[in-house]
Parts: sequence; C-alpha cells; structure tokens
Amino acid sequence: MDINNTEKNIKGYIHSTESFGAADGPGVRFVVFMQGCPMRCAYCHNPDTRDTGCGTEVCADELLRRALRYRGYWGENGGITVSGGEPLMQLDFVTELFKAAKASGINTALDTSGAPFSREEPFFGRLNALLEYTDLVLLDIKEINPERHKALTGFGNANILDMARYLSETGKPAWIRHVLVPGYTDFDEDLAALGEFIRSLSNVERCEVLPYHTLGIHKWESMGLKYPLDGVKPPTADRIKNAEAKLSLSNY
Ligand code: SF4
Repeated sequence: MDINNTEKNIKGYIHSTESFGAADGPGVRFVVFMQGCPMRCAYCHNPDTRDTGCGTEVCADELLRRALRYRGYWGENGGITVSGGEPLMQLDFVTELFKAAKASGINTALDTSGAPFSREEPFFGRLNALLEYTDLVLLDIKEINPERHKALTGFGNANILDMARYLSETGKPAWIRHVLVPGYTDFDEDLAALGEFIRSLSNVERCEVLPYHTLGIHKWESMGLKYPLDGVKPPTADRIKNAEAKLSLSNY
C-alpha cells in the first residue's frame, strides 16, 4: 500500500463493505472498511482489518458504482462512510473515491483513528486534498492520557490530538468518538480532561460514547490470537451515563 501514489485509478485494498450502515455517521450509509491499520488497540473489534498487503483490490469508480445501488435508501442525510482499518493509510484512494462521490452530490464521511496524521509533507498536502471532498470526519480519541493511550493502542496520542485541533482550525465538521472500556478508557479524570479538550474545539458537532462490547472476540480466536482484554466486561449503564455527561458538548 503506497500513500505516495498520486496516479489516477489508484487501487484500493478493502476488507469489506456494509450496505446499510447506521452507526458510522448520519443517516443510512454505505460503509467501506479499508484494509490495514497501524494501531494495535487491545479492544479492536476488527483485528482482521489491521494487516496490510492483503484485502480485496478495487478501484474507486467500481466501488462508487457499488455504493450507488443503495442511494435510494440514503434519504437526506445518508451517504458513504470510509472506515477501517485506517482509511488514512490509503488516503489517495479515498480522495479519488470521495472526489467522484462529491461530483455525484453524495455526502462523504471519513472514520479515522487519526494515527497517521502529521503536518509534515507529503502527508499533509494529501490529507488536505482528501478533506476538500470530505463532509464529515469521525475522529476516534481512544484516551486523552498519553501513557494510557500507548498502553492501549501501542501509539502515543499527540498527533491524534493535533489532528483534532487541525480540523477545528480549518472548521471541518467532526464527530468525536470514544470507546468506553472499563479499566482502560473509563477514568473520571481522563474523561473530564477529554471533555474539556473537545469543548475547546470549535468544529465538533457531536460526541459519541461507544460502550465497549465483546462481539469481536471470536475474530481474535479464529485468527489464532489471544484476546488481550479477556474477562473485561462492558461498562455499566451508570458509567456510560457518567462518560456521556463528562464528554457532553454543553457541559460548560
Ligand atoms: S484503530 Fe480501529 S481498526 Fe485499528 S487497531 Fe484500533 S480499533 Fe482496530
């Protein structure tokens, strides 16, 4: 996978698609799960999307044609979301897809962990080209505390928080999402700090708390991998409510 590929008809490598996605952006959406992710989140629900050098090869036009079959279901708010894996690993391909989608008047959403973000070239220019055709960014902030973030994902969060700031500087509409995992991402002090950070941004339209669930465990097992969060239970209703209150956009 080459993020420096600037040719037309760039090939993308996808894991799968979902025809009627209702959880990744507004309305009913055609969701594309790209193959490849640099992060190694302990709770990853899709560990089979992480490896690079595999996936199904597609071109943007063909993928758009496939998505357009479902256009009748999208209503006013729906459209296409590109998720993963990590879409920024193949950002030139996603740019080509979104450019074609916008030419057809389709709403586009990018669901990213922000892990590849950098203000350095050549990445930055290419990201800006993608954002030109992106209506909404769904940015996951997995932990505000850098050490806990690293323990959970294998990576620090400085560039991810910087991506959030950059989207705010440029006024790009964003939703912030936080997966709530007991013992890993559910600490009052971190939730309060994350809430404060989110409210310091000027572009956030919505903040979603996504309760951890164990539905992806079988994928780890079928890949012969040991599940790192074995025994961790989903958060209680009270903890979910607590996180929602702390991350609320109106909690000034
Ligand atoms: S960023 Fe998403 S796809 Fe990548 S490891 Fe984390 S949960 Fe899995």
